[in-house]
Amino acid sequence: MNNYEISRTRMEEISDMAEYFAESCCRSSAVILPQDIAGTIGLKYSTGNYKESFDGLTRYRNRRFHVFINTRQSDHLFINRVRFSFAHELGHYTMPWHRQVLMQPGVKPHGSKLDYCFDSSAEREAEYYAACLLMPEKRMRRDIANRRFSFVLVDELSKKYQVSITSTLIRLIGLNVYPLMVVCTRNNKIAWQRCTTDFPFYSVLRGLTSEVPVNTCAGEYFDDGRKYDSTQEVYADDWFLLRNPSDRRRKFSEHCVYYEPLKQVISVLWER
Ligand SMILES: [Zn+2]
Repeated sequence: MNNYEISRTRMEEISDMAEYFAESCCRSSAVILPQDIAGTIGLKYSTGNYKESFDGLTRYRNRRFHVFINTRQSDHLFINRVRFSFAHELGHYTMPWHRQVLMQPGVKPHGSKLDYCFDSSAEREAEYYAACLLMPEKRMRRDIANRRFSFVLVDELSKKYQVSITSTLIRLIGLNVYPLMVVCTRNNKIAWQRCTTDFPFYSVLRGLTSEVPVNTCAGEYFDDGRKYDSTQEVYADDWFLLRNPSDRRRKFSEHCVYYEPLKQVISVLWER
């Protein structure tokens, strides 16, 4: 687990800055293209197969910035993961306090990995910037106005904005419109969690070594491989650490997204 929380003030600042670049460079595009933004602001970039070393990297050398994007074998820029990595590196370049760090003498370029587990607050800020750049605030707010939250809404938005389900959820949590929690579990361990400020619980149940609570859909996957392709009902005491015993039977929805290669489950949780 990481604890690099970003303050609400900083989140708003990042959202505004990302929206400015998205709309001033891609105003007439239905989909935000990081390569168009890089072209407009004069940031040079290269793509290539950098294997597992990084997903994106920003280098400052000879008074110039250069971004490297790992397209692996595909060598094209329209894959969701690649788009998000490019947007993340644009964050390091365009956020002044990130640029200043990269320009300090002796600072080595730091490759970024797109796994949502961070080793610094800068990485978490760049993740949030990427979500804000690809899903600008006003466009998103228009799309969700008068819509109830459901997994179908998340799926629609991810397809419309050409981003992953996880990125879409990160953006929705930042907008703080629906009370939501997202828990990512890998190999039966809780890897990370995010929630909106108005979600009624903050702490999830976990074993001594962060195992996933057993009476949850994610827990069932790790217990016997069971998977669900629809939204399921769970109770508050299945997932959360409760302060008030009367909260035990509060009903929640859990929708799981599975990713077998990493033995990963993303659980989206909201109250019914
Ligand atoms: Zn980074």
